[in-house]
Amino acid sequence: QSNVMAGKRGLIVGVANDRSIAWGIAKAVTQNGAEVALTYQGEALERRVRPLAQEAGATIVAPCDVTDEASLKALFDEIGDKWGKLDFLVHAVAYSDKTQLRGKFVDTTLDNFLRTMQISAFSLVQMAQYARPLMTGGGSILTLSYIGAEKVIPHYNVMGVAKAALEASVRYLAADLGTENIRVNAISASPIKTLAASGIGDLRYIIRWNELNSPLRRTVTIDEVGNASVMLLSDLGTGVTGEILHVDAGYHVIGMKAEDAPDI
Ligand code: NAD
Repeated sequence: QSNVMAGKRGLIVGVANDRSIAWGIAKAVTQNGAEVALTYQGEALERRVRPLAQEAGATIVAPCDVTDEASLKALFDEIGDKWGKLDFLVHAVAYSDKTQLRGKFVDTTLDNFLRTMQISAFSLVQMAQYARPLMTGGGSILTLSYIGAEKVIPHYNVMGVAKAALEASVRYLAADLGTENIRVNAISASPIKTLAASGIGDLRYIIRWNELNSPLRRTVTIDEVGNASVMLLSDLGTGVTGEILHVDAGYHVIGMKAEDAPDI
C-alpha cells in the first residue's frame, strides 16, 4: 500500500469475477491510490462486476464489448465527460472458441482465427485509439500476455498466435505513442486458474508443470500481477515502454525439466 498512484485515473477492461487478473490489478492500483473505471461484458457478468466495482470504489462502471464499436465509443465518451482525461488503461481481454483450445493448431478455422485475433489482439490497438486523445498528460497502457506467444504450449494454439500479434502490437504502439509520452507494455503472466484459462485443454497439467519447473517452484497470484502492474502504470515506470515483463515465477528462463521434478 502506498500513494504512488494518487491522482491517477484509469480504465480497467477485463474483470469477469474475483479470480480475474484484471481484478488483481484493480485491487493493487486502488490500494496504491488510483481511481478506476471498470467494465463488464454483458448482463451475466454485470452481476459479478457491480459488487467488485463498489469494493474498488470505481466511479465509472459501464458495459464494454470490444466487438461492439458503439459500446466502446459510449465508454470512452463517458470517461471524457466525467474525468476529462485518462492516465492509464488496462487491457485484460482474450477470447477464442474453446473447441480450438485443445487438439492441434493446424486445425484452426479461418472464422475462429479472425475472431481470436480481433478480440485478443486488435482490441488493444482499438482501445489505444480511443484512449489516446484522453491521455493528454501522457499515459500508460498495459495488456496481458502469456509465454504461449513465444514458445509452443500444447493446446494454446491460435491464442498463442494472437498473443504473438499482441506482443508485437505492444512494440509498434510504444513506438507510435512514445512522443506523446504514452507508454505501452505487457505483463506475461503464469498460468492462473481463471474463467478464460479454464477453456484451455489440460490447464491443470500446465499449471502443475510450471509449479514443478519454474525457478520459484510455483505460479503467481493475481495480486502479484497487480503489484507488478503498479510499477508499469505509475510514475515508478516512466522509463519503461515496449516491454514484455514476465511475472511468472521465472518460468520463461527455463529450457529443460528441473532435475528434481517428478514425472507427471
Ligand atoms: P478472465 O476470464 O477473468 O478475463 C477475461 C476477460 O476478457 C473477461 O472479463 C471477459 O469478459 C473479457 N472479454 C472476452 N471477450 C470480450 C469482448 N468481446 N469484449 C470485452 N471483453 C471481453 O480471465 P483472465 O485469465 O484474467 O484473462 C485476462 C487476460 O490475461 C487475458 O488477456 C488472458 O489471455 C491473459 N492471461 C491469462 C493467463 C491465465 O493463465 N489466466 C495467463 C497469461 C495471460
